[in-house]
Amino acid sequence: MAFLQGIAASNGIAIAKAYRLVEPNLSFDKKTIEDTASEVSRFKSAIEKSKAELEAIRDRAHVELGADKAAIFEAHLLVLTDPELNGPIEDKIKSEKVNAEAALKETADMFVMMFEQMDNEYMKERAADIRDVTKRVLAHLLGVQLVNPSMIAEEVIIVAEDLTPSDTAQLNRQYVLGFTTDIGGRTSHSAIMARSMEIPAVVGTKTATEEINNGDLVIVDGLKGEVHINPTPELVAEYRNIHEQFEAQKIEWAKLVNEKTVSADNHHVELAANIGTPNDLKGVLANGGEAVGLYRTEFLYMGRDQLPTEEEQFDAYKAVLEGMNGKPVVVRTLDIGGDKELPYLQLPKELNPFLGFRAIRLCLEEQDIFRTQLRALLRASSYGNLKIMFPMIATLDEFREAKAILEDEKQKLIAAGQTVSEKIELGIMVEIPSTAVLADQFAKEVDFFSIGTNDLIQYTMAADRMNQRVSYLYQPYSPSILRLVKMVIDAAHAEGKWAGMCGEMAGDETAIPILLGLGLDEFSMSATSILKARSQIKKLTKSEMESLANQVLNMQTTAQVIEAVNAATK
Ligand code: PEP
Ligand code: MG
Repeated sequence: MAFLQGIAASNGIAIAKAYRLVEPNLSFDKKTIEDTASEVSRFKSAIEKSKAELEAIRDRAHVELGADKAAIFEAHLLVLTDPELNGPIEDKIKSEKVNAEAALKETADMFVMMFEQMDNEYMKERAADIRDVTKRVLAHLLGVQLVNPSMIAEEVIIVAEDLTPSDTAQLNRQYVLGFTTDIGGRTSHSAIMARSMEIPAVVGTKTATEEINNGDLVIVDGLKGEVHINPTPELVAEYRNIHEQFEAQKIEWAKLVNEKTVSADNHHVELAANIGTPNDLKGVLANGGEAVGLYRTEFLYMGRDQLPTEEEQFDAYKAVLEGMNGKPVVVRTLDIGGDKELPYLQLPKELNPFLGFRAIRLCLEEQDIFRTQLRALLRASSYGNLKIMFPMIATLDEFREAKAILEDEKQKLIAAGQTVSEKIELGIMVEIPSTAVLADQFAKEVDFFSIGTNDLIQYTMAADRMNQRVSYLYQPYSPSILRLVKMVIDAAHAEGKWAGMCGEMAGDETAIPILLGLGLDEFSMSATSILKARSQIKKLTKSEMESLANQVLNMQTTAQVIEAVNAATK
């Protein structure tokens, strides 16, 4: 039995066998072969095995993911059995007396290069198909197993170095009970996705992929951030118990699903949800979300190889607005960069991507991308209660420029006879200290603020939110952060505007009493945290939390703040 300590990224307990989502090593040596006939039959046998595997994946995809996803594997099967590709490989083995691996790779690389240079989009996509198929045949030649998360057909815990947002989105909730990764923190996007999918997760264990083998029994304790490998039957029994208690607690919280969020002294705040895709709406409604406080639209742009069209975006925004049935939906415009890459944009690598060309900076420069998104949003606006916010605003000039572009697109749409809502509120995320400090000036021009503490903390403390070695500086309750939060809320209220928070801090049990005391109007969090937060706020008295907030703002350290919160809320 072994034990790993990581970071609790998503609540709950999961117990199941491990499934390692780790790419196998596909390297090989080029060799001279004497018996070319048996080398050709080794190649043919790898093709046959790949064919059987692809047919099974295609059939599963058809049932579980639909015909369009199955079509991808159908295309792979066509490539796999194409004599124009296989013929030259066999010829190469025979004429050059090279091993099948080398003949396959060299021939495939040549075709990939040829297709990639073509102007035609369809042909370019064939290059990607050839690359995928080559990997599969190579794995069979080398006798190693490729990872196929879509083929998982039993309950598992995923073990990976890291999970990209698109990996996480592809996990099948029915079979994937939990996951654990080597890297990442509570605010890394894999963790955020895990919470929105309600999958218990522990990230940042450093060595999960080294220590866990396929098939090991694993307990993921997403409450404490612990991972137990091949636990004793006693520990499994103990954890089954904790799991049941947690489920019972959830049933209690579920009773609050249709209630408003009011403190014990009847002060109402809005509990909203952070979402990544229209599919997350089910969770928002099931958990009693009063609004969508942050729609991270960048997920629409990820896990694909070109920008989403205006129509695709329009459909997604309309679906969310209609799904929320008149309740507020705050859509954040594209926030790409930092840890959220879009390989197809081919932006140059930067030394400090978190301080680099990202979010609104990119949108103001690449205006075609920005304008397409704004048009889709404006057109969707008449289907619900849309609020738009810009990410990573550092100066008033940036806000004014972005607002002018929005206004320009709006006028063009109206002139073309489109209906655009007259009531769209326009706000900004406050996640850069310069903006928090100048919030009184911003408040004169924006309709609302949403405080993005995930980034605000990293920029205030100068500590990368992905870097484990400086994670001790990631201190949401530091009086320095709390003072910035207060400045933003007070500045909004002084101008009759509202202030929300959509960083992970908004759903944090220790932060909530302070934020209530500071007068935060809207708390936006993972949907799965909403009912717990509602239950907590019902027991708190706003006036008492105001005194607590005043007290902690004048403290020196995070530890003192935590102690004061515990004393005031025990
Ligand atoms: C934030 O920075 O707090 C935020 C909500 O944005 P993201 O986590 O997407 O950077
Ligand atoms: Mg951010």
